[in-house]
Amino acid sequence: MMIGRRFRCYPTPAQQDKLRLWIRCQRFIYNSKVEELDYFLKFSKFALPLTGVAVPIDQKYSHFMGDGAEWLRKCPSDIRVFAATNWMYAYRRFQTGLSARPRRHKDKGNGSVWISSRLFRFEAGEAKNGSFHTIWVGRPRNPEHVVGHIPFRAHLDYQIPKSVHLVREAGKWYLTFAFDDGLQIPDEAETVEWLAGFGEDELLQKAIGVDRGVVTPVVTSEGAFLEIPPDQKESMKRDEAKMKRWKRRIRRRKPGSANWRKACDQVAKTASHAKNVRNDFAHKASRSIVNAGKPLIVFEDLRIPNMVKRPAPAPGTNGRWLPNGASQKKGLTRGILDSSWGRIDKYTRQKALAKGMLCVKAQPRYSSQECSKCGHVQTENRVSQDTFQCQVCSYESNADLNAAKVLAKRGAAMVANEGYSPKKRKRYGVCRKKKKSKELGPGRPEVTLGESE
Ligand SMILES: [Zn+2]
Repeated sequence: MMIGRRFRCYPTPAQQDKLRLWIRCQRFIYNSKVEELDYFLKFSKFALPLTGVAVPIDQKYSHFMGDGAEWLRKCPSDIRVFAATNWMYAYRRFQTGLSARPRRHKDKGNGSVWISSRLFRFEAGEAKNGSFHTIWVGRPRNPEHVVGHIPFRAHLDYQIPKSVHLVREAGKWYLTFAFDDGLQIPDEAETVEWLAGFGEDELLQKAIGVDRGVVTPVVTSEGAFLEIPPDQKESMKRDEAKMKRWKRRIRRRKPGSANWRKACDQVAKTASHAKNVRNDFAHKASRSIVNAGKPLIVFEDLRIPNMVKRPAPAPGTNGRWLPNGASQKKGLTRGILDSSWGRIDKYTRQKALAKGMLCVKAQPRYSSQECSKCGHVQTENRVSQDTFQCQVCSYESNADLNAAKVLAKRGAAMVANEGYSPKKRKRYGVCRKKKKSKELGPGRPEVTLGESE
């Protein structure tokens, strides 16, 4: 199973300059590849068939290193190769239908450089949690290509990866990579089969429903109310005010000036802090959902992108606009984004998968108006924002808790009766052309290719 790691690292100013050059180099080649393809696609329909020129979809980059681009030679060739490979991966993702066509990467001061194992060496022996380790980056043969020792804080254990990324984000540097821990993930289909063997009632005992809301971000059917701690909520509010202030300053300052750059850095810093708070909450919430120990986790099937979309403008007469509820909607959108619904869903799925649990999505319709005890649906069942009272069996409960229980019921019924089939993830593969083996004997080579050469 692939495990990702992201450690904070601390390059010196001189090292940062070199790494920024490498980032620039990879971005230059990536963007050149993007532009090259755009150029050829423009003419591919009418002009190219006449000349017999094929649209180049390859990893060649040396033709970008002509006049004015000699600075590319200050970077090791592995850096340039990986830039072209990165573009190729992006293009393959596009061909498989996983993403849009690769676009230019803008220079916003952030960025990352992808480094192969020929250019780094982990210096620490055994990985110990929370201690400083060092990574040596560079190519020993050429002193211009040496970055040197960079310390990083390993807050989790790790294994040596095949490649790493050095990332600059809001003025901070990170070392990120993924490695295979060799353990097999339990197959999702097998988990479904095992769970479908139980009856609906039995399955309900094994299910946990998760209701996401704006007032309380996460409520589980086990009665856990998960919220962002008050002090962090306060700091998010402060971030928002700070952001407003600095954005105003950006508008007043001259673009490109030193003070304008400072204001941009402040905005990026504040945004990354708010992001960290939300991310932290999503990780803690998903961990506590998985730690409840129920093998079936049920979420509502929410279309979050649709829910946070801006309302369409309503054109009126005389070139005026009618009120479309945009400012009222803003609060809800912010609430949804601040409670990081999407992340909680994603992280829970990942954590559940590693533990052999199943994470499903149930139909959310009327889940807040249905009684979890008798199943009666009525608008009046929901007395207020936080109270639920059934008009038939007079069952009374917290509204979110009731909704979470309804979801658990729906999920259990779905897996037990209708059968649930896990979505097959689209994958893409980059395969190199195999070299044709030279035929030595009649039909098959007697010597392997390596030996013959
Ligand atoms: Zn009822």
